[in-house]
Amino acid sequence: MDCYKRRTSTCFPFSCETPVKIHEFQAKALFRKYGIPVPRGIIAKTPDEARDAALKIGGTVVVKAQIHAGGRGKGSLRENPSVHGVKVVKTPEDAAAFAASLLGNHLITHQTGPEGQQVKQILVEEASNIATELYAGVVLDRDTSRVAFIVSTEGGMDIEKVAEETPELIMTERIDPATGMKPYHGRKIAKALGLEGQTASQAAKLFAGLYTMFTATDASLVEVNPLVITAEGEVKALDAKVTFDANALFRHPEIQELRDIDEEDPKETEAHDAGLSYVALEGSIGCLVNGAGLAMATMDSIKNAGGSPSNFLDVGGGATEAQVTQAFKIILADPNVKAILVNIFAGIAKCDVIANGVVGAAREVGLAVPLVVRLEGTNVDLGKKILAESGLAITPAGDMHDAAKKVVAAATGRSVS
Ligand code: GDP
Ligand code: MN
Repeated sequence: MDCYKRRTSTCFPFSCETPVKIHEFQAKALFRKYGIPVPRGIIAKTPDEARDAALKIGGTVVVKAQIHAGGRGKGSLRENPSVHGVKVVKTPEDAAAFAASLLGNHLITHQTGPEGQQVKQILVEEASNIATELYAGVVLDRDTSRVAFIVSTEGGMDIEKVAEETPELIMTERIDPATGMKPYHGRKIAKALGLEGQTASQAAKLFAGLYTMFTATDASLVEVNPLVITAEGEVKALDAKVTFDANALFRHPEIQELRDIDEEDPKETEAHDAGLSYVALEGSIGCLVNGAGLAMATMDSIKNAGGSPSNFLDVGGGATEAQVTQAFKIILADPNVKAILVNIFAGIAKCDVIANGVVGAAREVGLAVPLVVRLEGTNVDLGKKILAESGLAITPAGDMHDAAKKVVAAATGRSVS
């Protein structure tokens, strides 16, 4: 089975759910809490605030756009491609001027869409004298069910590129959950990075902090790129990217508060609030399915038939009419959707409830794209009757493969055999 988001090695819808992101300045506040050294910084929302912050910090400062995406240093403003998202400036006036050029504009990086993300706040930080730039990441390795450190001497740059071109420069250290992170783990990772003496001890302590933070906050990724050694011999996290497991968020109200809804996909937020399991994808076929396994199988069927799904959507076992209506609206709001497939195998769910939800939503928002429906299970005859009598142009399908072929044909205009 394909992993449609290529987020994890083993694709399961629950691990595939979009992780919750926070801003760099928030991640650094968490770092501080866990004893991980970061530069002094102040957040600013206006050029004046940026000037004041630079004045307060004193000397050379770094001004950094805060958006939920990496690659800001190399990214460019949509409105002015010569402006990048990170700049080292020498005076408070320059800090204010750079802030003015960023704020309100859209920063495009390799991790944002082509539209970029609007910069609403910036971080003004004390500048560091970088001697060495390293990379450190903490992830959950699903193959071994262990928290894994991924480190490299090639920090500061695109780590994906390093992984592709010089994989031998990336080291992995997995932590046995039975022992947890021990001092020797930290020493081993520091040694792998070529660090010695005081620097190695400082780094080992920092790694222990990263591990504690990762497990305590139910993070799904903690990435420090670059992790630097300064000319003064200090070890510091110059950048911080942290994402959290969305399914563990309920036990971290303090992290929930850090969410920036503006930065999230509104369709995913809406679905989440309606109790639906939804992941936005790039294809053209909207899917409304009950059950995670059936949803995965449906997506594979669509792929096999030569199409591509625009979303993963599981309305769940006990879906209500209101939830189905909401789900349908979310699918229809995606301009890429060229056809919709409703694939229901009703056990606990009831076909008539699903059918009423589909009809209600289609009437409310208007159905401008072809709709293929395959219903099976509890109250199937009643469900089919509701759809047939609705007056909507619905293509019924016999089984899942028939449904996939019909919806791909409808979306692409090609006949699918
Ligand atoms: P990203 O591009 O979104 O990953 O943003 P980073 O926080 O990693 O910053 C991009 C680059 O700016 C870093 O790789 C550094 O080379 C540079 N940079 C960031 N902070 C400083 C600093 O304090 N001093 C210097 N000299 N360069 C910095
Ligand atoms: Mn970075």
